[in-house]
Amino acid sequence: MGNIIPNFFGSWEPYQNVECQNAWAGCDASEAGAPITGGKLVNGKLTRRRGDHEVDERCVEVGGPLSSMSSCTKHPGHTDFIPVPEFGLRHLPRPYRNKLVLDFLKACANLVVRLHLGFISDGRPEKWPGTEDRYPFAVHRGTDLVSNVGSGWVSRVRPCWEEHGLCRCATCREMEDEGKERRWWEVLIVTARHVVFDSVEAKMCEVTLFDDHKDGSGSVVLMAYEMGLGHTEEDFCFVMCATHDPKVAERLQEMMDERETLSDMIVQQYQHVDDIPTNTVVISHPHGRMKYVSVGEFKGLEKMGDKWIYSFRHTAATCPGSSGGVVLPLIGWWRGLFRAAPHNFALTSSENLSGRWGFFF
Ligand SMILES: [Zn+2]
Ligand SMILES: [Zn+2]
Repeated sequence: MGNIIPNFFGSWEPYQNVECQNAWAGCDASEAGAPITGGKLVNGKLTRRRGDHEVDERCVEVGGPLSSMSSCTKHPGHTDFIPVPEFGLRHLPRPYRNKLVLDFLKACANLVVRLHLGFISDGRPEKWPGTEDRYPFAVHRGTDLVSNVGSGWVSRVRPCWEEHGLCRCATCREMEDEGKERRWWEVLIVTARHVVFDSVEAKMCEVTLFDDHKDGSGSVVLMAYEMGLGHTEEDFCFVMCATHDPKVAERLQEMMDERETLSDMIVQQYQHVDDIPTNTVVISHPHGRMKYVSVGEFKGLEKMGDKWIYSFRHTAATCPGSSGGVVLPLIGWWRGLFRAAPHNFALTSSENLSGRWGFFF
């Protein structure tokens, strides 16, 4: 059995060795999009296809609207990015244009976060494993010469004092035991590993929740303290943050409960519908600004040689800053499948590639 990862609900499922037929119950090219062979053959080994990472590496301004970002060459004007409060039925493809789907996507958006870090660990490899391609920010290893911004989402929140004792956050770490917080909650974030590579970087990573509005009102900043499981090739990782605030923990739990209730309702609604187009939604913090939603076409699952690798190709708009944001294909709902993956790469100006899926919504 391979590694295991927590699914979106915090329970555990086998992650490796999942056969396509098990997961998609007989998916084929007609519904998953034509498979493509990705990557390069290096020393007889096929590597995963990659594109340009989408960390915004010189972010000078976090939060606020994209209208103040004028230097973008990928999506000048950013017309395909919709602020979360303005995201409405008119933005949904017709078969999905109903309040339930809208409420579900907004419930997912509630959990999307911005990650901001200014230090690059010595632990980053020089090259992507098995290739001659440079690994993101390897050139800056051991320095604070970056102002990197990416995205992620909250996957779990849980009280930690019984299992882990005193709080591990950056503030408490500096204190004697008697000063450390006794009641604290761990907030688990999913992101791409090229955004936060290891615990050295995680300790310097600021995580912003609830940044949905132009004036930043309602946003909450947490400090991460550790990286959990991470996979370089498949490009995902888990970053742990801590909060002492019961209101923040409670709010996140309520948001996750709401999302779960809505996903159950969607399964009920779509379980007998099997002839609907495939679209993809991305929710992220492009350029480190406030949270935005974009909608595009689902173009297919990636295939490496004869192996499915469970990355999604799609056309939903992404920009630097979107790396690690949530990629949600609106496909498979009729089978009760809620899959998501962190955003990884731009392949072209209009086509993007997620990390490996495996996280239920
Ligand atoms: Zn842009
Ligand atoms: Zn603490």
